[in-house]
Amino acid sequence: MNLEDIKAVKDLLAVPQQIVIIPHKNPDGDAIGSTLALWHYLNNTGQSATIVSPNDYPKFLKWMPGCEHILNFENKNQQARKALDDATLIFTLDFNHLGRTGQLEPVLQSANATFVMIDHHQAPSDYATVTYSDVTMSSTCEMVYNFIDYLEDTDKITQEIANCLYTGIMTDTGSFKFRSTTSKTHKVVSSLIEKGADNTAIHNKIYDTNSPSRLHLLGVALNNMVILQEYSTAYITLSQAELDKYKYQKGDTEGFVNYGLTLEGIRFAVIFIENSEEGIIKISFRSEGDFSVNQFARNHFSGGGHDNASGGKSDISLEETATHFVALLEQYKEKLNT
Ligand code: 5GP
Ligand code: MN
Repeated sequence: MNLEDIKAVKDLLAVPQQIVIIPHKNPDGDAIGSTLALWHYLNNTGQSATIVSPNDYPKFLKWMPGCEHILNFENKNQQARKALDDATLIFTLDFNHLGRTGQLEPVLQSANATFVMIDHHQAPSDYATVTYSDVTMSSTCEMVYNFIDYLEDTDKITQEIANCLYTGIMTDTGSFKFRSTTSKTHKVVSSLIEKGADNTAIHNKIYDTNSPSRLHLLGVALNNMVILQEYSTAYITLSQAELDKYKYQKGDTEGFVNYGLTLEGIRFAVIFIENSEEGIIKISFRSEGDFSVNQFARNHFSGGGHDNASGGKSDISLEETATHFVALLEQYKEKLNT
């Protein structure tokens, strides 16, 4: 954030505001961690803040301090709408354009509030009065730490806030291994542990809560994996029938896409997941090195994200989507193999 933006935020928070904080649709650890951390911070400084999530989020995040106060727009619609109607200030976290909030988008478009964006995705749109966007950041949680630091308030980071921020940094960096993990990230994490973040417990709560059916679904996914050595690519498909058979719950497929990248020589990994309810195939893209999956998702699958992790969707069938995807690879052959 530049000095002008810091001053603008300080001025906004110098008076009482009705604040709403919004994560993206299908919120992940970084989205929930950053919104909860900001929510604790703002409420602790005497502001009145509410989190409105576009929809539900995975069970493995449902231990996070304060999460019981999150209003899910899908089933707490009236309360959520009231909070948005009354809002004077809206923070949008971990996404770069309002379309990422699904059915909340029209409500946000017509909201009569000042917007502040905190986000690390590429190509931010400019709906906010203050846009704190930095694509070099590991996570929105790292940015929320910086945000509190810009406000000279790191002494107000409680153990609860530290636990929320640690969670989002850990999940968005693949446990501190992605390229976006910098020495600054580690400094922030170090400070969070000093402030009481329980790193071992958080790791257990996020990664060691498998259900037998999730592991069986992973087995199906790995079995379905198609390896295309000539394109340094591996992709997985999961049909709605397969998800149903293993009693799929939100979050169960988290991380499956990464297995492709563990193969020697594979630089591009993809998972296609059928979602009958929405009538789409939801896609996750991951890469190692210089192949930009953000660009690939933007160009071909109405999506986006980061250079090495992005997402998108398709509205043709699962088989057709996979066939279309494979046909696209030829034009990227050189890039994928260098
Ligand atoms: P995931 O594959 O874990 O759902 O998402 C990976 C990254 O891509 C995340 O940073 C996420 O915000 C972004 N992303 C996922 N799906 C979409 C999408 O449909 N559109 C855009 N613009 N970004 C997405
Ligand atoms: Mn993020």
